[in-house]
Amino acid sequence: MKIGSAMKAFLLVVLLAALPASRVAAAALPHVLVIATGGTIGSAPGGKSVSGDQLVGFIPELRGVADVSVETVAAVGSSALSFADWARLVGRIRAAFAADPALAGIVVTHGTDTMEETAFLLDLVIADPRPVVVTGSMRQSTVTSADGPGNMLEAIIVAASPASRDRGTLMVLDDEVHAAAAVTKTNTTSLSTFKSPNTGPVGLISSADGLRYLRPPGRSGHTYPLKPEAIAALPRVDIVTSYLGGDDALLQAALKAGAKGVVIAGFGSGTMTPSVERASAAVAGAGTPVVFSSRVLSGPVHDGSYGAARWPATFVRSGLLNPAKARVLLMVHVAAGVGETLQQAFAPY
Ligand code: ASP
Repeated sequence: MKIGSAMKAFLLVVLLAALPASRVAAAALPHVLVIATGGTIGSAPGGKSVSGDQLVGFIPELRGVADVSVETVAAVGSSALSFADWARLVGRIRAAFAADPALAGIVVTHGTDTMEETAFLLDLVIADPRPVVVTGSMRQSTVTSADGPGNMLEAIIVAASPASRDRGTLMVLDDEVHAAAAVTKTNTTSLSTFKSPNTGPVGLISSADGLRYLRPPGRSGHTYPLKPEAIAALPRVDIVTSYLGGDDALLQAALKAGAKGVVIAGFGSGTMTPSVERASAAVAGAGTPVVFSSRVLSGPVHDGSYGAARWPATFVRSGLLNPAKARVLLMVHVAAGVGETLQQAFAPY
């Protein structure tokens, strides 16, 4: 039987409509892999979940942007992610890049609560020049004014762009592109919660103007070729936060629990209570790495807030890394074990 051209066109439309959302394909479009881990972006009211495939299906604009495939490595709130999840995610990202030279980039969907830690971990251990772009949402993906589909679309546009290469891991939410080392969550509910307080975003993305980078490519530090098994078994590093009248009880508890390093989230630009100052000097002097950061949102820390150096020489400054990110780098540095001093690890930041 001969099929007329109108019938052929009809069959093509039927066929395209039947394609799984996990392979929203179009010839010659860049291939982007989406790896879902859970979070609010992967959820709907009533305790329901929204899979990566469903999310991609909410975004008809993708058909003109990228050839998208979807995988799931976890489906949990980001407060429940573990080092084992990190190890699987890193293993999967490396394997996907290695298997497909034509893969343009990877998007990781993630809960916003620990997103900055995962993004920085990926920045430290993924060496491929192609972009890894982390995104999420502040509202569930099926509610009125959901931000997830828009963030996902923008993240995929960023991951598909050659201009995103050699920039390390990026984070995309609310029309902004941020560097993993610089970005932090600043508001518990706002859609524009992610900011880079010291540097501003590295790029902007909008439907009107497309993707526009504000800085040349480049990444801050070097990458660590840690195997997934080493990531699953990252050493314990604790953060000891400063507060008026605080003593060294939490610092001692961290050591007792087996901490292989400690991050002090001090006051202001470089002070801590006398008790924590004495105890952390003793800890650093005894050979446990101590990194000094600040509980303040932005700015560097330095010694000599009162005009005289007080820190032991063994203290290392976190640079512009906040305490959560200083912890990630300290864990990775201790796990890597060789090749650089603690000062060298933190110097680029
Ligand atoms: N509770 C969520 C999480 O998984 C918050 C979010 O995704 O925005 O981090």
